Amino acid sequence: MKLIVRGGRVLDPSTGLDRVSDLILDDGVVVGISPVAETGRDGMDGMDVVDASGLLVTPGLVDIHVHLREPGFEYKEDIESGTLAAAAGGFTSVCCMPNTDPAIDTPAVVRQIIERAEAAGSARVFPIASLTRAMAGDRLSEIAELKAAGACAISDDAFPVQNSETMRRGMEYCAQFGLTVMTHNEDQSLTVGGAMNEGFVATMMGVPGIPRVSEDIGAARNILLSRLTGCRLHLLHISTGTTAQLLRWAKEAGAPVTGETAPHYLTLTDEACQGFNANAKMNPPLRTAKDRAALKAALRDGTIDAIATDHAPHARHEKEREFDKAPFGILGLETAFGLIYTHLVATGDLALGDAIRCMTSAPARALGLPVGTLQPGAPADVALFDLNARWTVDPAAFRSKSRNTPFAGWELQGKPVMTIVGGRVVRA
Ligand SMILES: [Zn+2]
Repeated sequence: MKLIVRGGRVLDPSTGLDRVSDLILDDGVVVGISPVAETGRDGMDGMDVVDASGLLVTPGLVDIHVHLREPGFEYKEDIESGTLAAAAGGFTSVCCMPNTDPAIDTPAVVRQIIERAEAAGSARVFPIASLTRAMAGDRLSEIAELKAAGACAISDDAFPVQNSETMRRGMEYCAQFGLTVMTHNEDQSLTVGGAMNEGFVATMMGVPGIPRVSEDIGAARNILLSRLTGCRLHLLHISTGTTAQLLRWAKEAGAPVTGETAPHYLTLTDEACQGFNANAKMNPPLRTAKDRAALKAALRDGTIDAIATDHAPHARHEKEREFDKAPFGILGLETAFGLIYTHLVATGDLALGDAIRCMTSAPARALGLPVGTLQPGAPADVALFDLNARWTVDPAAFRSKSRNTPFAGWELQGKPVMTIVGGRVVRA
């Protein structure tokens, strides 16, 4: 199946390409770029043509931090709805976290997810397997078998391993297989009962706090263990300026460490929790304006490699509990591009090319995924955006099964308009 994406502004940070051209896809892979005139108005013989004039054309976005909730929590999300949400947001690849039921801690579950995604998915799905069995933090998973089954990386995400000896052995094990360990950074002895950022707003609300230092201590330990073991480390959802500083130090010291932050840490502060808004509750929590500014600076100078959403669907009845008892996490896939374009690119905080790099080649590189590029021979995964389109976030229109977003009613600029996976239009 040949497809030509005609006359768009093709922007591919992996090759430095940024010009109006035709993008030619064939048999599921990128064939190449050609000047607009050469392929003619209707394309070449036997080709379907997509008119991309006036649109931005990029590699399909890559989100390395997503909760698809299948198996076990299909009332929140499943592979079908989660990848529909991905495609609606311009994402063509998602890496799914292992806190399912059963957890992704056996080769059978890894294979089950890959098979389900191939049958029902609108995006590529790369399963992340757990570091410890059932993410219980003690016995290590069978890393070699999980890798052989198709696990793309290893993480206990929201259940961070507290024992440093276990973490060291886990990293040594993963280093042998070249797998990246992705860590939620938290010293949980400092966060018992915490529900939002420790500070003035939490005090005014009477809500137990999660201090910033709990994340910074967790990140520092994991960075030091990465240096010791040589294991590739990826810091998940960085929310504090100090953790960004620690990542900067790790890179200067030559440690194999990368990091991500999420759109909500770049657009909100803990003030969004006011009114006991559980749709602004996530872990790590929204921090301060100072942290938000530091995260933007760290994206700009390349310290933070990637933007990932931590898409975490929860049902309405779960989020409508008392603030302290509501689960952590918010949706991300369908609002990520618009939030980043409106609040970082259009404001001049981040160049468009850097924003796209943070959502394509950089996250792919952090885990060694063969996506996030339009180089000839790469998978034909493409996203088209209308940068002039203005739209209002309407949770009722989400493809996700859940509605837990703090961005309802936000006016955004920049909208995904078409998503192509393996040369096939999955969403137009
Ligand atoms: Zn997560």
